[in-house]
Amino acid sequence: MTDANDDLFARARAVTPGGVNSPVRAYGSVGGTPRFMSSARGPYITDAAGREYVDLVASWGPALLGHAHPEVVEAVRTAASRGLSFGAPTGAEVDLADLIADRVSVGAAHPVERVRLVSTGTEATMTAIRLARGFTGRDLLVKFAGHYHGHSDGLLAAAGSGVATLALPGSAGVPAPIAAQTLVLPYNDLDAVREAFAVHGDRIAAVIVEAAAANMGVVAPLPGFNAGLAAIAHAAGALLIIDEVLTGFRVHPAGFWGLQVEGGEDYTPDLFTFGKVVGGGMPLAALGGRADVMDFLAPVGPVYQAGTLSGNPLSVAAGIATLRLATPEVYERVDAAASAVATALSGSLEIAGVTHAVPRAGSLFGVVFLPEAPDDYATALTQESWRYPPFFHAMLDAGVSLPPSVFEAWFLTAAHDEDALARVLAALPAAARAAAEA
Ligand code: PMP
Repeated sequence: MTDANDDLFARARAVTPGGVNSPVRAYGSVGGTPRFMSSARGPYITDAAGREYVDLVASWGPALLGHAHPEVVEAVRTAASRGLSFGAPTGAEVDLADLIADRVSVGAAHPVERVRLVSTGTEATMTAIRLARGFTGRDLLVKFAGHYHGHSDGLLAAAGSGVATLALPGSAGVPAPIAAQTLVLPYNDLDAVREAFAVHGDRIAAVIVEAAAANMGVVAPLPGFNAGLAAIAHAAGALLIIDEVLTGFRVHPAGFWGLQVEGGEDYTPDLFTFGKVVGGGMPLAALGGRADVMDFLAPVGPVYQAGTLSGNPLSVAAGIATLRLATPEVYERVDAAASAVATALSGSLEIAGVTHAVPRAGSLFGVVFLPEAPDDYATALTQESWRYPPFFHAMLDAGVSLPPSVFEAWFLTAAHDEDALARVLAALPAAARAAAEA
């Protein structure tokens, strides 16, 4: 029997490569027909056939407050009534930049002195690495295997997210000389970083790292890893770019950096990239950091970056409303909801006899079919990943929408109330049994 999702997928495949506008949405690694969504509210999302799911994707992170929060929607509606795009600066952009800079501070540490708004996380990281190269006058970049920083040419080598899901080494279409400018190192291995700097130190512009890896499954940095990166990079005159596109404003008011610094780790990234939550579900991302580095951007400095829709008034309105509503209580609710699901997930898999771990990084978590949470990508790849598709589909059939890949994090929101959580918990035992039988 086909339903509206099948019909739409057939039409979509005829007009769009793979039927989707971003690869992981195609259910390639879990199989079946992707659900075409028609609306979402709070913790729920409804597909084209009218079926409602508890949503644990949250648009891949942005929906920290839950979908269609009335005050965020109202802010966007008000902004829309005043004009969709001006191609000129607005006061609201200044408000959002101030909000970002103010929030990313812990005690006396206030590392975001300047902010530039862009439209996607890809643009934010692409600009950050161009800026680091322009500032240092060096070409090489260090990234970590399994980390995803968007799809700009130099950052696709050994990337996570869809690149990991599709088991691609990188991407076709990236010229070899560009790929050769990126040194890919194993995550959580400071010795490998020291070695790379010993050989190429005077040619490395920057190290870019996910604040906590969440695109190869969730893999937290080992204690001291991010601080070690800062020390090694700075000793060699290179910059540290902390990619908080996924973690920023999601795991803590000041991002994963804030969580770490509050927990006693002391390090100062030169540049940060933000996305997802900062745009409240609208296309908006940002980079920020040291004033002397950021002022290398045009029009003050020689590094070019621009965007017709940068600082779009609707996106900025959604971002401001979301950040203002994201109070400490919101983070407490998200943490509690994440803990409830993570604990139940582990318990169900345990009872079903499935070898697994549920790695955490703040409120982010995921499932990995290994006896212990991995510290790096090579280990993450050795898991019994075939257990995920039947698990995923059992949850979907029971009305819970999970990320359609084992290499992605699960996202809770402040709107996941007892009813929504009860539906997730009720679905887990049968899904765990399906994973056991795979
Ligand atoms: N960096 C990280 C850590 C991400 O998780 C993502 C997207 N998932 C990106 C960058 C790219 O952001 P976008 O999809 O908005 O281009």
